[in-house]
Amino acid sequence: MHIAHETARAIAALLHFAAIGVVDDVFKIDAVMRWRPYAQNLVRAHPPMAIGQVAVMGRRQRQAVLGFVEHHKVIARAVHFGETDAHGAIIGHPTRQKSHNAGMPRSSQLLHPARTYPEPLPAATVLLLRDGPDGLEVLMTRRAMTASFAPGAYVFPGGGIDAADAQAHAMARHRPGQDARRLTQAIAAIRESFEELGLLLARHADGRWADANDIAALDRKAPAEAFAPQCQARGLTLAADAVFWLAHWVTDRDLPRRFDVPFLVARMPEGQHPVADEKEQFEPLWVRPADALARHAAGQFFIIFPTIRTLERLQRFARVEDVLAACQNEQPLFTSCPRAGLLAGREERYMEHEPAFGELALTCPDGQIVHALDWQTEHPVALLKNVQRLTAPNPGVMTGPGTNSYLVGDPESGYAVIDPGPADEDHLEKLWRAAGGNIRFIICTHSHPDHSPGAAPLQALCVGHGHRPPVLGLASAPTARAHSAFTPDRDLEDGERLVLGSGANTHTLRVIHTPGHAANHLCLVLEEDGLLISGDHILNGSTTVIDPPDGHMDDYLRSLDALLAACEQDQVAFILPAHGYVLGNLWNEPYDARACIQHLKAHRLRREAKILQVMQAHPQGTLDDWVKLAYDDVPERLWPVATRSLMAHVERIRQLA
Ligand SMILES: [Zn+2]
Repeated sequence: MHIAHETARAIAALLHFAAIGVVDDVFKIDAVMRWRPYAQNLVRAHPPMAIGQVAVMGRRQRQAVLGFVEHHKVIARAVHFGETDAHGAIIGHPTRQKSHNAGMPRSSQLLHPARTYPEPLPAATVLLLRDGPDGLEVLMTRRAMTASFAPGAYVFPGGGIDAADAQAHAMARHRPGQDARRLTQAIAAIRESFEELGLLLARHADGRWADANDIAALDRKAPAEAFAPQCQARGLTLAADAVFWLAHWVTDRDLPRRFDVPFLVARMPEGQHPVADEKEQFEPLWVRPADALARHAAGQFFIIFPTIRTLERLQRFARVEDVLAACQNEQPLFTSCPRAGLLAGREERYMEHEPAFGELALTCPDGQIVHALDWQTEHPVALLKNVQRLTAPNPGVMTGPGTNSYLVGDPESGYAVIDPGPADEDHLEKLWRAAGGNIRFIICTHSHPDHSPGAAPLQALCVGHGHRPPVLGLASAPTARAHSAFTPDRDLEDGERLVLGSGANTHTLRVIHTPGHAANHLCLVLEEDGLLISGDHILNGSTTVIDPPDGHMDDYLRSLDALLAACEQDQVAFILPAHGYVLGNLWNEPYDARACIQHLKAHRLRREAKILQVMQAHPQGTLDDWVKLAYDDVPERLWPVATRSLMAHVERIRQLA
């Protein structure tokens, strides 16, 4: 193979990148010139590589990749850490993580053009911990002001993974459960903390930790490939077995340089003292996580998002042994690739489990920071080209930011209005305008007073302009309270489809009966785009109240199962609730719609278990007695409402008994 020197370097970098198993997609070797920046991003030397043999790797798409390779009769072998002779043609399209549109809204409906973002580079970070007089302390240092990533920020030591780290396995001790990839990451973290801070997680043959004399005898400025051998020459074995996995961060998609970084933890060896290299790192500092966060809040300590969130998690631990005990199962306590949106014009970042994440994943899947998260009652917020949300001006304890009215459709297909909300003339007028007057259906997920009273006046408004869209939903049951009495023009069948438009511009809403929050509750799946419109059955930022007799806990849980099945059927990734932001994540990513529903169900069942315990401990108690104990984690002002759900649980518990 004839390749210019520069290209060969880029290929070597790319292959190295692939070889350590962080490539999320598959790459084409003839497109390799485009990957030249990676050659510069990858630190230090690469081992000699023979170009032209073949190896293929894709972390998420290993199966697909291997299938491709089978198909194309490419000589392939699985790549793993420490295997230095595996290289090859890597084929595919390096832009989006999804190879097809399954579980994603149609690309034709996305608000922003698809764009590429850099693949994350492998790196490792280590939090060195000690027990201070006032509790757990962690070692942080300040990055150089000239650093290309997070200049001036206080961080934990760490850096890019070097090819040499994967070649040092034999010079390190590891736990049986620590696989090759984790071992390489631990070695990288050990090497980086030595280079940056002169700390050495290594032991002599007799188990003694490396001491100041050992450290003084070693060359901190030696190239990466010399690190493990010089330790070995002094009789030291790298203590990768003392390094545990705390968290897994992948840098946000909007940043020009991205890293895939395990945040590791280790106990600080006795008798060693951090000395910064004064090049990359400055001012090593032992700090309690809570103090670091307080100083940051006061504007005196610059730390970036993953550091903040990791410190927040860490501050729950009292001692080093507690942290290490929590990390024994070789899995991170959490994994996150955050997303950012705009709140009052300012960039705010969110982890997967936080309320705004799903909305950002839906509106800006490629990580564009353009979506405003401010609640809008004036103008509809576009979530997709064919889905808009206008929030009614009825915020409150029970309605959160207000009732979300959804508009599904486009100017050609006309629109379905879902949950017109209260009979607020202004709000209905705005909905009508947003639909250009072309409303085809008015659908109520259920008849509660913050959802359905707007239906009749909205219909009247349309009639005034010469057409009469039907009001659809389910008639209220006899158990409904007076304020929730409701009769639609027609009852919707379970499984019925309402179709707007035609051809590529078809928007199909499938009805799912979901009794539980209200006896006449239903949800809708927008089939073409994999969205679930959940009414009050699933909310974001608050818990659905189940108010007997119209509310029914057993029905509620069964309806959750029906929604889970619908999510599987249509690969629903996102949930659009009647109160709060969009929930979910891209299909098969952490916190997708299924995970949200499972989480919700588990929460309900945990609550029920707690209620059962309280009932057994206080068999003569009243609901008022039980609510204080079973909802002791809920503010007292919400106990009257919680009592309704408590009643529903008690009813189910007695039924099950
Ligand atoms: Zn409701």
